[in-house]
Amino acid sequence: PRPLAGRTALITPPGTSRMRVIANELKEAGVHVVNFAAGELDVDTSDVIKEAAKAAIDGKRNVYTPTLGLMPLRERIAAQLSERCGTPYTAAEVGVTAGAKQALFNAAMVLLDPGDEVIIPQPYWVTFPTQVEIAGARPVFVDTRETGYRLDVASIERAVTPRTKAIVINSPNNPTGVIYDRDAIVGVAELAVRNDLWIIFDECYSELVRPGHAHTNIVAACPVAKDRTVVVNSFSKSHALTGWRIGYAAGPSRVIKAMENLQGHTTSNPCSIAQYAVIEALRSGGRDFIDDVNRRLDERLDRALAIVHSMNVMGDGIGCAPAEGAFYLFLDIRSTIGKRHGGHIIPNVGALCERILSEAKVAVVPGSAFGDPTGIRLSYAIADEDVTEGLERLRRFFAAVE
Ligand code: PLP
Repeated sequence: PRPLAGRTALITPPGTSRMRVIANELKEAGVHVVNFAAGELDVDTSDVIKEAAKAAIDGKRNVYTPTLGLMPLRERIAAQLSERCGTPYTAAEVGVTAGAKQALFNAAMVLLDPGDEVIIPQPYWVTFPTQVEIAGARPVFVDTRETGYRLDVASIERAVTPRTKAIVINSPNNPTGVIYDRDAIVGVAELAVRNDLWIIFDECYSELVRPGHAHTNIVAACPVAKDRTVVVNSFSKSHALTGWRIGYAAGPSRVIKAMENLQGHTTSNPCSIAQYAVIEALRSGGRDFIDDVNRRLDERLDRALAIVHSMNVMGDGIGCAPAEGAFYLFLDIRSTIGKRHGGHIIPNVGALCERILSEAKVAVVPGSAFGDPTGIRLSYAIADEDVTEGLERLRRFFAAVE
């Protein structure tokens, strides 16, 4: 038989899923695994959203909608963005997609040509480089580890070449939990203007911010960058709707129009029922739900950090990226590499995570999935008692490294 298309070699399963699969298998076998590997909230979505979805089904709203979503939904998103960014967005500048993932894929496909370079700060969310490669372009990584996982605008500028077409910024960040400060965001926007680059700004975790920190939208901070920015957001994380697949892209109308043409030939509209439900969520505000989620995450983070700060490997503390937003802890585990646990050598972060799972019964995601072989990612959006129990197990695991 003929071989598959060459591009299939670029598309490997996300490195975030392997630990999740093994953890679920162990769970089904009756083992109490603490699963820090998920990328979603542990709470159910709100009744407002559920009732609106049921009403949409009963009201026979099961047919195709316009490709980029129902106009009332696009208008509400545009109004919300206009308020947040302090600069007007129209419905023609917003397209609704099957989650942020499709918005990002559309952006890659309509903005990038083969041979283009795209700057991506590292560690990065696993899907960015793959989508760039599927579009035929080349990801160029800028390491943020030496700057405390923060953006160093000078390093980014050094990575710009005549082939650079775009830069991807994700804040609050997955996997680090860092929120880039306003100065850095403005610095990136100005750099993009200077070098005529597109900005893909993924703010999927914009609503999940810890006390004392603030999320900066790049268009709000630098309105002159609006005509070169595609803002990507989603209801997955803020409204506990990961399975419903509603996200959006907001950018210049010619970009959104090109996305409409692409989406019209790929998936057509995102799920109609989910769209009606999200319209209702936006109409009713939904603030109480998000405030409640943030309150719970704050409490869990306090409890989690108390344990993380007491972790050590052979007397040296384990570093943690500043946990400012989203719901991730990113631990620096480089001191474990090359050491032993229970007589077994730990050659790399993948082996470390497998051993943590088999010995401590704790699932975490290896940083290698995010382009960082010196970190591991934990989600603290899990049950309170699991946060404590899982981190205590991890602390004991690290204490036994020699
Ligand atoms: N962008 C980032 C940074 C994410 O972490 C995720 C999900 O994990 C997505 C995009 C995709 O979200 P969605 O479920 O809306 O497709």
